[in-house]
Amino acid sequence: MAGNNAHGKVRFLNLSVIDPVERNALMAAMEQVLRHGMMVNGPELTAFEEKMARFCRRKYAVGVGSGTDALYLALRALDIGPGDEVITTCLSWVATANAIALTGATPVFADIGPDLNVDPADVARCISAKTRAIVPVHYTGRLCDMAALGELGRKHGLHIVEDAAQAFGARLGGRVAGESGILACFSFNPMKVYGACGEAGMVVTDSSELQSRLESLRYNGTVNKETCVVPGLNCRMDTLQAALLLARFPYYQKLVERRRSLARIYDERLAGVVDIPGESPDEYHVYYTYTIQSRERDKLKAFLEDQGIETKIQHPLLLPDQPAHRNAQLPRLPRARDIHSRILCIPIHEKLDTGHVEYIGEQIRTFHGRAGR
Ligand SMILES: *Cc1c(COP(=O)(O)O)cnc(C)c1O
Repeated sequence: MAGNNAHGKVRFLNLSVIDPVERNALMAAMEQVLRHGMMVNGPELTAFEEKMARFCRRKYAVGVGSGTDALYLALRALDIGPGDEVITTCLSWVATANAIALTGATPVFADIGPDLNVDPADVARCISAKTRAIVPVHYTGRLCDMAALGELGRKHGLHIVEDAAQAFGARLGGRVAGESGILACFSFNPMKVYGACGEAGMVVTDSSELQSRLESLRYNGTVNKETCVVPGLNCRMDTLQAALLLARFPYYQKLVERRRSLARIYDERLAGVVDIPGESPDEYHVYYTYTIQSRERDKLKAFLEDQGIETKIQHPLLLPDQPAHRNAQLPRLPRARDIHSRILCIPIHEKLDTGHVEYIGEQIRTFHGRAGR
């Protein structure tokens, strides 16, 4: 049965640059950097930071080496460290928990809601005298309830640091990803919706003091590139990645619109067959993943594989189940444990054609005994 369809293998992602116009733009950007030779801190980095700050409606953006760097440096900039607790979601890529743990603080994992984002009511339950910050993750490319989390932050004097690695450009209730926290972190890893051609990340903020702390922390904790005031790592963004991201920016909106129109096809084919993400009228989901929920998830995944359709479980381990983050006292996470056995990410990248998505939708319907119209 393998690959027995008119579409060949349907890959979960395809990172090659196919569009000849985009390809030329990227080549020209690379040429430019090779010509001027300012491989770090070049003019393209400054231009990129200015563009990103504007896009996220913030005063400052600080380019860094990755999304993981962004989270780690953001927490360091807030002086979070040993003895502190930071509340985050139990469902994320492990980078979120690692960044917290590497500052010396303890990650505390809260339960999720049906939207797969952290549940503000459970975050409230996790607050202790040691809590210093909340790191909400805009999971799958949709925003958390930042109004409720902001309210909690104000009430308890906690910093909010957004992990917006999956959600560049996502909106909810008139707010854009990265607009709400004291600091917000992005990843431009090639797998993300707005991706570089290698690793890259960014922190945005309105505070000039935090901006300069971040600029110091991203270069070995130095001031004026010489005097080290605090031990740090080298976490700078290459000029080349900034130049490529700048060149790619005009394609980003089209790419998200494409993903959104494919999501509408899935919505139409899959509503009532499996649980679909759903989207409220005041929401703009960027579909880093299109995550469905099926009670027969593992069988469905195997069935789709037999039809040549690649899918992913993001993420197969909840953060508190990761060996690196396992504690003697496992948190109670009834909703995450329940939802986690059902989630499956199906292909939604912009290089799929409508026929692929119709085909995937039809195979999922067939599996659930709902073939045809
Ligand atoms: C990708 C990702 C990160 C880390 O970003 P990198 O650029 O890969 O280091 C952090 N948090 C979340 C939620 C992510 O999806």
